[in-house]
Amino acid sequence: MVRVRFAPSPTGFLHVGGARTALFNFLFARKEKGKFILRIEDTDLERSEREYEEKLMESLKWLGLLWDEGPDVGGDHGPYRQSERVEIYREHAERLVKEGKAYYVYAYPEEIEEMREKLLSEGKAPHYSQEMFEKFDTPERRREYEEKGLRPAVFFKMPRKDYVLNDVVKGEVVFKTGAIGDFVIMRSNGLPTYNFACVVDDMLMEITHVIRGDDHLSNTLRQLALYESFEKAPPVFAHVSTILGPDGKKLSKRHGATSVEAFRDMGYLPEALVNYLALLGWSHPEGKELLTLEELISSFSLDRLSPNPAIFDPQKLKWMNGYYLRNMPIEKLAELAKPFFEKAGIKIIDEEYFKKVLEITKERVEVLSEFPEESRFFFEDPAPVEIPEDMKGVFSQLKEELQNVRWTMEEITPVFKKVLKQHGVKPKEFYMTLRRVLTGREEGPELVNIIPLLGKEIFLRRIERSLGG
Ligand code: GLU
Repeated sequence: MVRVRFAPSPTGFLHVGGARTALFNFLFARKEKGKFILRIEDTDLERSEREYEEKLMESLKWLGLLWDEGPDVGGDHGPYRQSERVEIYREHAERLVKEGKAYYVYAYPEEIEEMREKLLSEGKAPHYSQEMFEKFDTPERRREYEEKGLRPAVFFKMPRKDYVLNDVVKGEVVFKTGAIGDFVIMRSNGLPTYNFACVVDDMLMEITHVIRGDDHLSNTLRQLALYESFEKAPPVFAHVSTILGPDGKKLSKRHGATSVEAFRDMGYLPEALVNYLALLGWSHPEGKELLTLEELISSFSLDRLSPNPAIFDPQKLKWMNGYYLRNMPIEKLAELAKPFFEKAGIKIIDEEYFKKVLEITKERVEVLSEFPEESRFFFEDPAPVEIPEDMKGVFSQLKEELQNVRWTMEEITPVFKKVLKQHGVKPKEFYMTLRRVLTGREEGPELVNIIPLLGKEIFLRRIERSLGG
């Protein structure tokens, strides 16, 4: 059975790149009827926070990427938080030491750093080996460690040989012998390093496919060697391409919003974000672009992941969001849009009126946060706009004649026509002025939609104000 995992470090918000990794894992698990596992990689105690873990989960849930096993829902392969698995890593490290595949190091981090610098200054690669550390293993040092409550670090004996990775996305990647030296798997603070914890967990959690960002490609060499030392076949690896900003540089804060939470707060819809993210490095076999989660699941396959960098185009995401927004049931749109109106200081009293407003403004809106400004004039009088002198006669007469008209465009339009003709005013100029008087703006939805919805009272009141008394 397919078992995949998303393994975020809770050191910040869920970003677009992480969300895409989670999504690909989720889609693959659902397509293959496998399991999607959430593992929290929180062994960097200084940078990891519970609050971020909660936020990560909240963002994943909001996107609809629900996991089958994880710290909150449990499962047979737990615990799912690395900080709760330290004993497991220690046992595995000890096992490697016993088997002669790893060794204890009694050098202090500063001493290791010194060695590294010395090697570099001699023009050598900073590769460690067991002999280099032997001199530190003295009875005094062991006593010191004991007194300070430290544990010796554990270094893995990196076999000096070539490793070949057959990556689903990148193809064959050859890591030549001597690329790296021995490396630390357990630190003297008793905590594992990323590569070690990752392999132990992927092994014990029976992960079959590792789908992750290609920034981890170089780590895979260490991980392949570790699998070998445990005499385990490695999982299938699929390293997905980096996400770049429109300028071709790695996507970062400079490019604007990058966290899922920020997009949510701006009024993006989860279905739009999911659809858009799926296309960053993956493509539908028939080139379809607008895809529901169900369609994504049924058409997903790893062989359509692209090795080329994906460009994050905020404009396209926004366009896609507009599409989803316009096509959702009006009840749902109303429910989602309401908080954005409240935040903008607009109180919704009449639900039916609110829905009609959304219906006629939604063509002009791509994210929920744009709704209030696009439709504020439906709820509040805009700042009065003065009617030009030569147009005042038309508006005065209209005000009179419309008093007793039934408020439908069928009844209103003929009155407009008649009065315009009488005054010899050009329709284009009249309608422009009327729009400014009613909405305070130069553009917006069609007047034929605005006028009936605003109602007679407001219509006449705004004209009166603009006539100056
Ligand atoms: N915690 C790692 C990260 O956040 C996980 C990498 C992996 O998937 O192996 O990048």
